[in-house]
Amino acid sequence: MTACPCCASRAATQHKSPEPHCGCPHCGHRWRLPPLPGAALDYAWMSGRNRVPAHHLQRKFRDRLATVAPLLRAGNLILEIGCAEGAFGAQVKALADVDYAGLEISRDAELAAARLDRVFHQPAARLAADGFDLLLAFHVLEHIADIRAELGQWRRLVAPAGALLIEVPNAAGHPLRDWDTHPEHLHFFTAASLSALLAHAGLSVESLSSGHYESPVYPDSLRAVARPALTAPEKTERLLDRIQSLLPGPFIVYGIGGDFRNCLLPILDRLPVVALVDSDPGRLGEKVSEARAVEAYDPARFAGLPILIGSMRHKEAIAERLRAAAVKLVGLDDIYQLD
Ligand SMILES: [Zn+2]
Repeated sequence: MTACPCCASRAATQHKSPEPHCGCPHCGHRWRLPPLPGAALDYAWMSGRNRVPAHHLQRKFRDRLATVAPLLRAGNLILEIGCAEGAFGAQVKALADVDYAGLEISRDAELAAARLDRVFHQPAARLAADGFDLLLAFHVLEHIADIRAELGQWRRLVAPAGALLIEVPNAAGHPLRDWDTHPEHLHFFTAASLSALLAHAGLSVESLSSGHYESPVYPDSLRAVARPALTAPEKTERLLDRIQSLLPGPFIVYGIGGDFRNCLLPILDRLPVVALVDSDPGRLGEKVSEARAVEAYDPARFAGLPILIGSMRHKEAIAERLRAAAVKLVGLDDIYQLD
């Protein structure tokens, strides 16, 4: 019995047609048999991997840049796995002031070296973990037999706050074709199998879309942007950091309803909160935790203390009520909104 390399289901079944392969009934992943580490194709002697008519290439690059451009920040360290001749990297470099490294194990590495800042001519497992801000891998993963091990290596190379953009053919790469006879393609992904594989590698999927253009033969690709997943304690620390950056000292929480319970109550013990305040008379005295109950706002007692408004919906109304108090107001949206 073979476990699915993406979702680890042990219900995978073997098929002889159209070529020997395994299929996972849970995530829909299919992969060729035998699983051939020894029979892998020798890419070292290949070249001209990206030689297609220019208009196909430009269409592919336009599609890719639409996702990559918003992820770029000046000074970013970028690594493209399978950079071929470095043509896409050159377009990214023309767009933003970034350090662009490529990894290419075919002979195309020589051409890429003239276009990119650095080119590694070795497998990802041999690279030092330099903390790349963005790792790109377009149509690479489906060529690799041990996708779990490879993705683990890619994850190792990315900075804790970095991102990976991974693109593979969607199943056979064309909506009207069920099987892909391309001998280099060892894995046929689905949206579910790619997501499961990313999750297994400790990555959290930020976006996942299909229909991306690779070529007329492979016009349907899956593209995922993922980041190293945060553990529960790491999420709490990030949240506390955000609150502390906006409210460095003691403060009051005003608005003790559903948003407060969802967003602030789980971390209340770690916040320098002086009082929990609400304007609803029916809520006054309500016990929020062992040590705390809801109070009324007392301008004299709370003079000068900043206020975190604990309700998204009533933020404007609460701010209006506190206008005369002339204190610093921070909303949950200021804290929770991601850049
Ligand atoms: Zn599966």
